Amino acid sequence: QLYLDRIERLNPDINAYITVDAEKSLAQARAADERIAKGETGPLTGVPIAQKDIFCAKDWITTCGSKMLGNFVAPYDAHIVEQFNRAGAVNLGKTNMDEFAMGSSNETSYFGKVKNPWDRERVPGGSSGGSAAAVAARLAPAATGTDTGGSIRQPASLCGLSGLKPTYGVCSRYGMIAFASSLDQAGPMAKSAEDLALMMNVMAGFDQRDSTSLQRENEDYTRDLDKPLAGLKIGLPKEYFAEGLDAGVAQAVQEAIDQYRKLGAETVEISLPNTRLSIPVYYVLAPAEASSNLSRFDGVRYGYRAPEYTDLLDMYSKTRAQGFGAEVKRRIMIGTYVLSAGYYDAYYLKAQKIRRLIAQDFEEAFKHCDVIMGPAAPGTAFKVGEKTSDPVQMYLEDLYTIAVNLAGLPGMSIPAGFSNGLPVGLQIIGNYFSESRMLGIGHAFQ
Ligand code: GLN
Repeated sequence: QLYLDRIERLNPDINAYITVDAEKSLAQARAADERIAKGETGPLTGVPIAQKDIFCAKDWITTCGSKMLGNFVAPYDAHIVEQFNRAGAVNLGKTNMDEFAMGSSNETSYFGKVKNPWDRERVPGGSSGGSAAAVAARLAPAATGTDTGGSIRQPASLCGLSGLKPTYGVCSRYGMIAFASSLDQAGPMAKSAEDLALMMNVMAGFDQRDSTSLQRENEDYTRDLDKPLAGLKIGLPKEYFAEGLDAGVAQAVQEAIDQYRKLGAETVEISLPNTRLSIPVYYVLAPAEASSNLSRFDGVRYGYRAPEYTDLLDMYSKTRAQGFGAEVKRRIMIGTYVLSAGYYDAYYLKAQKIRRLIAQDFEEAFKHCDVIMGPAAPGTAFKVGEKTSDPVQMYLEDLYTIAVNLAGLPGMSIPAGFSNGLPVGLQIIGNYFSESRMLGIGHAFQ
């Protein structure tokens, strides 16, 4: 009730939630109270969690930030949602996001922009901007996000939160609306690394309904929270502290790294030489996958259908012309182009080869260090409208995050400090399946 009251009061301005359904949430909360009274508690019994509106939740409108799904009531729960329900959590509502998770500022949402609670003239980042703003404004204690190229870490950085993108395959993608399937990964967003660990215990796990879900033994993500840092080797990629990084962000990140040295860690300079190729490679591969994934939105099976049309082809065209926003259309066109006969080898295949080189950069780097640290985003929260007219400026927001998705590695952002009164995130990149250790490293700082 406390959170619902805050949402009622503050959400009309911040716009962090697309859908709130007090009755549904309170029914779940009452059920949790009853279970607590009977002593049958789960790991998150009664804990309210906001769900990014990319996750299907049974009987909830699930829009993915698009007009195309503006009227879509999900007939089933995503694996993640199912897991939270099983753990006793309460679904607080569905959070705003860039349309189909394409964006870095939450400005592409059909349901309006989201304000950054630290400065309401600024964006919260994206695409999980609604989740980030909800947690930062205390409209939820924690939220889910998804990260295809930075969408958990960049908004966490811009809103002063902790956010984790797990190793690809750790969290099931079942019921999570697909953007770029080989890069998409769900993860938690919360105030501390400790809260992320508690959420990971619920979110991670094998699910046979997602063919890329990994069959691994369940682990306790809280187990390394108090592990000492003495002897930890931190790699600092020289490409992450170069041109393109805001001076205030660089300083806050350096100060955080100094703090790690005081806690007993040592630092070594490393190189990730293909860093500058990660954005161009991503903007071939992600649109390619998106153009294929989004072909299902044709007005036949579900979602929006144009009210007037002459024949089937006209219905498809009008539905897609009216249902998708400009950024989504841009991606579909780029993706269709790079996959088309004659261009496939020149763009798609070449990008796949560079993707491998980017992964090899990390493989080499982890021979010299345990974790990698650097900025999560090149700047702090920017003004609403500042980057909307120049897509490339917007794409550069993910300069330090995208390579991690291309390699399938885990990445996390934790609050490092401030620059001009705005939060700055420190990014921690680990080797495959080192989430527990990374969470402990984050916890030591907090
Ligand atoms: N900002 C990137 C994009 O627009 C990444 C988005 C994401 O991680 N979902 O595609």
